[in-house]
Amino acid sequence: MYKPERIPLGIYVHFPWCIAKCPYCDFNSHQLRGALPAEAYVESLCQDLISQAGNVSDREVTSIFMGGGTPSLFGADVLCHLMTTIKQHYQLASHVEITIEANPGTFEVDRFAGYVDVGINRLSIGVQSFCDQMLKKLGRVHCASEAYDAVTQAKRLGFNHINVDIMYALSGQSIDGMLQDLEVACQLSPDHLSWYELTIEPRTAYYKRPPSLPSSELKDDMTDLGLAYLAKQGYERYEISAFSTPGSQCVHNSNTWQFGDYIGVGAGACGKLTMASQIYRTQKQSSPKLYQLNPLAYAKRELVSHDRLAFEVALCGLRLVDGMSWDDVTSRSLPITGMEIRSKLASVLVPDRLQFKPEAFHYYNEHLVALLS
Ligand code: SF4
Repeated sequence: MYKPERIPLGIYVHFPWCIAKCPYCDFNSHQLRGALPAEAYVESLCQDLISQAGNVSDREVTSIFMGGGTPSLFGADVLCHLMTTIKQHYQLASHVEITIEANPGTFEVDRFAGYVDVGINRLSIGVQSFCDQMLKKLGRVHCASEAYDAVTQAKRLGFNHINVDIMYALSGQSIDGMLQDLEVACQLSPDHLSWYELTIEPRTAYYKRPPSLPSSELKDDMTDLGLAYLAKQGYERYEISAFSTPGSQCVHNSNTWQFGDYIGVGAGACGKLTMASQIYRTQKQSSPKLYQLNPLAYAKRELVSHDRLAFEVALCGLRLVDGMSWDDVTSRSLPITGMEIRSKLASVLVPDRLQFKPEAFHYYNEHLVALLS
């Protein structure tokens, strides 16, 4: 049966506002109109954190991830209050990873220096491109030089762990343009890169008015050339879209992909929590206003049914190049889960782990469909 004490635990904190809504974005993010209710919102987050702490009182937190939206709209003073609350109510591991997502358009040296002071030790910067023309098409509020400066300044301030997000297969982008973005990103030598293809998601402005995107042949060429370039620069691909220097994988996201647990606090935040005999998936109210009216309430709190476990575990674990050990699969699901996955995917898995054979990794989506049959 489930062994919660053996499952790493993270905390995900959602900040739902942005300066502007990007046309491709399907996250729970809302354009900020008027003043940011920083103190009131963080107070709601603290109530939410305190109310969920009792579920995990005997477990250690290995990562905290402040995502959005744009958490870097919030000052270090209110985040200090948040961190104090977390430390008072949760046991933090000695090397806990604490990440904040930042938009280069919000970079101010004093504010980011304050983040270091409150213990944030990893910065994830949403650069997306170093080409002004591409940034404009993506509706980003920053320009290329601001993105470059944000990464440079963050390093000077003492952030040793920096992720840079870069998108490719953008409207009007050439192979040279894609490679130039990667070249500039690598020159800045962050220890982590998230490099992912632009996709058109429902409920976005791009979905209503799709831009013209590169052909599938051109996208495939970009993928092959980009992967080769990153490998040559010393970035190891450890997940479909995540690359790092050795030992710098994101602890928080890796835990999510390894079917680990995480508390979700904040508007629209999702969580996954294993109790003695059940796994719950939770979600908070998406509307920031409604969330703040009752931060303790869940919009959804559902049991993961035994029927869905094999699919859910494979959906997460097989995103990782090295997959998961069968031992971890068993302690995070049921003994039968591993057997079910093996019976349906044996021909594309390595013998001793939940891990795709190298030639099968590229066909992640196609192979997972087999688990739904
Ligand atoms: S800044 Fe990020 S979260 Fe905000 S709208 Fe753009 S893509 Fe979405």
